[in-house]
Amino acid sequence: TSASHQAASLTRTTCGYCGVGCSLEVVTRDGEVTAVLPARDGPVNQGHACVKGRFAHGYLTSPERLTRPLLRRDGHLEPVGWDEALGHVARGLRAAVDAGGPDAVAAISSARATNEENYLVQKFMRVVIGTNNVDNCSRLCHSPSAAGLTASFGLSGGTDSLDDVERADCLLVVGANPVEAHPVVGARLLRRVLHGAKLVVADPRAVGLALHADVHLRPRPGTNVALFHGLAHILLTEGLTDEEFLRDRATGLPELTELLDDYPPHRVADITGVPASDLIAAARLYGRARRPAIVYGLGVTEHLHGTDGVRSLANLAILRGAVGTDRGHGVNPLRGQNNVQGASDMGALPDLLPGYGKVTDPAARSRAEAVWGVPVPEHPGLRIPDMFAAARAGDLRALWVIGEDVCATDPDANRVAQALDACPLVVCNELFLSETARHADVVLPVASWLEKDGTFVNFDRRFQRVRPAVPPPAEARTDFDVIHAAASAMGVDLGCPTPADALAECGRVAPVFAGLSHHRLDREGAIPWPCPNPDRPGEAKLYTERFATPDGRARLAAAPYLPPGEQPDDDYPLILVTGRRWAHYNSGSMTRRGGNLALDPVDFLDLHPDDAVRYDVQDGAQVTVESRHGRARLITRVSEQTAPGQVFCSFHFPASGVNRLTSDHADTVTSCPEYKVTAVRVAAP
Ligand code: SF4
Repeated sequence: TSASHQAASLTRTTCGYCGVGCSLEVVTRDGEVTAVLPARDGPVNQGHACVKGRFAHGYLTSPERLTRPLLRRDGHLEPVGWDEALGHVARGLRAAVDAGGPDAVAAISSARATNEENYLVQKFMRVVIGTNNVDNCSRLCHSPSAAGLTASFGLSGGTDSLDDVERADCLLVVGANPVEAHPVVGARLLRRVLHGAKLVVADPRAVGLALHADVHLRPRPGTNVALFHGLAHILLTEGLTDEEFLRDRATGLPELTELLDDYPPHRVADITGVPASDLIAAARLYGRARRPAIVYGLGVTEHLHGTDGVRSLANLAILRGAVGTDRGHGVNPLRGQNNVQGASDMGALPDLLPGYGKVTDPAARSRAEAVWGVPVPEHPGLRIPDMFAAARAGDLRALWVIGEDVCATDPDANRVAQALDACPLVVCNELFLSETARHADVVLPVASWLEKDGTFVNFDRRFQRVRPAVPPPAEARTDFDVIHAAASAMGVDLGCPTPADALAECGRVAPVFAGLSHHRLDREGAIPWPCPNPDRPGEAKLYTERFATPDGRARLAAAPYLPPGEQPDDDYPLILVTGRRWAHYNSGSMTRRGGNLALDPVDFLDLHPDDAVRYDVQDGAQVTVESRHGRARLITRVSEQTAPGQVFCSFHFPASGVNRLTSDHADTVTSCPEYKVTAVRVAAP
């Protein structure tokens, strides 16, 4: 063993990219990460990891990392010490409250941050500021899952574990591209298919899994609800429902049956563009399977009627008795970000406290008040889009953005920038000088996931430990320390001095987490919630006895199909769908700063060969893409992966301007943006 090898050390942690939650072994030498290896005994990844988790760590030592706080003076951001920066934040927040009351302040917490940090952010807003104006970016992705799954089943999470899903004999994968976006899940689903499970893929694009599908349904973007009703209609008319389950464990069948009269296969084919024969084949595969499972992604949620989509999809599992029983493996959202489940679990939401108690519910408030020692405001706070609207209207006087590049990732980006510029105080916790940070008054340099201590919750509700492999650079601090320090600067001790203390305190506010602790997670590895008891394992499979609805029954939803917010027309004849690609992650701020950039160096606008001819566009040509909201520049890639009349690009290269194209249409229930349907045209550059 060489001396240099002796100097290496291993840190076990959880991947900070997608929501799969792979366990990783981080090799460090002389304070630097030299390799990231998948843990062979990782409960989710089982010795695998993808190109993001394994190789995208070069950003840690990027010369662009922020290492000192920045304060805007005379229009320029200048380096200052922490005391000065935090003093400015504290005075600014106090001034905002004095001028406009507590609701003149808002915070956007982070799905990238740990549970403990999210817990602390929402506590800061509710205890120090006195407002429920706290939200997180699940607003932009899976808030319709939270609303829809809660309405259908009672809890805001997937119903089964990935291990359960991998036992299914028929997989219905909807609006998800796990081979690229969640590669370890993609591989496990594929393994199941190679072992004989049937596969139905519903996605407008020919995503990786579609190559292996028994049936590939390609609905027009924005027509999911009609598609799911068409499948439900066939289940009902062909007698493929579970009568006993519907009688004993569900409600809403008469209303749904009446609605489904309007969705025979030929009508659904007209709406969705999916041939009736494919609909029937898909419904029979799902309906005749012994243990079917549904897995879905943002292609279901990011719509004007995303919550209706989730509920209509859940109808299929209820009709089949394939949720909460041994006759199926439920309805399972693939969460995009490492801790987007946890950020919501921790109560970084304007209407919900830790553990999903409603702020309007006196019992939930009094549980939190007993622990925090202050009254909790009872009116729900602002959602992210409403924060921007309030800022533009002059009603929001301070906004703290933690680990989100909202100017790059939120829709209709030009108007987001206007909102930040209109807000008197914008504070930004960041790794890099992001587009959002450029609009901030105070920029605070913070640690990344490889530099912090805490826990994440993955897509199948497992709490897992996050451990620092290296220290943050120079003066950068964890979000946990920053929130504590800001509270101190305002004269408040937030308590729970360590992340372990914060999780323990959260368990006192939220009974569903009461059985969890860092100590237990260190000893046992991953533990799913609900976990109310320290002596019991958590519940990997939900609802085996009753649903968490008031009457214990699953609820069928009878929501009619309604069209998306935008339709193509003569001026904007194409539908743009945005999504993920394999080498990069979200806004790309980490994955583009390292070796992964070489794997996927630019973003492309994928368009079908017929459209390339129709619009006289060459493969590899640079084009301008225009929508009713803005324009972007992209390089075309002619590909049959995208259907005629549709174009696709990722959101990993914000400089191309993709979110200047997207609209402010949003889910009518949760305000989740309709990223999946934007009418555009392509033009010469
Ligand atoms: Fe696993 Fe997702 Fe990380 Fe890839 S990005 S290693 S699939 S958690």
